[in-house]
Amino acid sequence: MSKPGHNLPRDPVRSVPWPESVSRPVVTPLQPGVVYASPDIDTLNAQYEGGAQGYTYSREGHPNASVLAQKLDEMEGARGGMMTGSGMGAVSAVLLGLLQAGDHMIGGDQLYGRSLRMLTQDLPRFGIETSFADPTDAASIRAAMRPNTKMILVELVSNPTLRIADIDAIYQIAHENGAIVVVDNTFTTPRGYRPFDHGADIVIHSVTKLLAGHSDAMLGYVAAKSADHAQAIWDVIVTMGFTASPYDCWMAERGLYSFDLRFERASANAAALATMLAEQPGVSRVLYPSRSDHPDQARAAAVLGGQFGNMVSFEIKGGHSSAQRLTEVIDMNFAPTLGDVGTTLSHPASSSHRGLTPEGRSALGISDGFFRMSVGIEDLSRLEHALKTAISASQS
Ligand SMILES: *Cc1c(COP(=O)(O)O)cnc(C)c1O
Repeated sequence: MSKPGHNLPRDPVRSVPWPESVSRPVVTPLQPGVVYASPDIDTLNAQYEGGAQGYTYSREGHPNASVLAQKLDEMEGARGGMMTGSGMGAVSAVLLGLLQAGDHMIGGDQLYGRSLRMLTQDLPRFGIETSFADPTDAASIRAAMRPNTKMILVELVSNPTLRIADIDAIYQIAHENGAIVVVDNTFTTPRGYRPFDHGADIVIHSVTKLLAGHSDAMLGYVAAKSADHAQAIWDVIVTMGFTASPYDCWMAERGLYSFDLRFERASANAAALATMLAEQPGVSRVLYPSRSDHPDQARAAAVLGGQFGNMVSFEIKGGHSSAQRLTEVIDMNFAPTLGDVGTTLSHPASSSHRGLTPEGRSALGISDGFFRMSVGIEDLSRLEHALKTAISASQS
């Protein structure tokens, strides 16, 4: 059925049909299109009303987000997960979609920096009450509950001290009181822990980190157990424009293909480096959840099922000047991120936790000599050499 005008002179702006092919590309195609044309009014109506499946405008969804969300859903044991333009987009969509003026929520006291800011600066502007509690201590969570508490937001593994939340107690306390539990699973990944298998109501990821894994895609993911929650979150994503870019989804999907391999290699490297670091005379403390001197070692073993992850924190002797020297000489990227294929080193006192007073930092165990390392997939001996050399130079 040709439309009128088909025999007018060709214009490069006019669409030509996508070439037919009985064979399909092996990889997911990148579809950057923003606008989708429907064949006619009745079909468009059916699309809006759910009778026909089809994209309309990419802020409201696009194929690359759908494909990636479906893969992450499988990994998390979720249904109907949604992509956002960043991890913070996912956090914001959950908080703004599910809370209203007069509600109260509790956050873990070592949340990601921007999530902390959201609770301290932004939600109160909308009349939402917020407070913090120590997620490793069930009594602290229980004491923070109020009659209007609607939500608890936790990260299972805290940044940068790698403490493990008493997550089963948190599910129990929240659900006894009619509140929901939102787990930011970025550090743990579904290889370490699947929140929906245990009692979480919402799962969030910064896909930017380990899942995409190459520091070249910025994305978030959120899935909800309840369809009503999912709808409310989706409406915020679309209305406030937290939409993910097709290109980033496409890049992240490519990164995801190697996620399992990367996670295993990076975790094995991390465990070996934790042991090596503990033997260095210049190192005063090593934090890794499988170590017997880790404060939550028993809980980590029970909750993480032997997957202790790629994050290692350590403290060197000599305070700021030694730490400065280490960053000057180390053959490793000094960058406050995590989850890249390459190892990155961050210094919480000058980055994620610079907003705290020195006393506030020392209450969390973060001194000027404290480093957090996101271990990558490099050859282990190279990483060992880089660390040993730089730590010994930092002490001279
Ligand atoms: C990085 C991070 C975020 C924010 O994700 P972006 O993709 O950077 O917006 C949220 N939570 C945790 C635990 C993170 O590490």
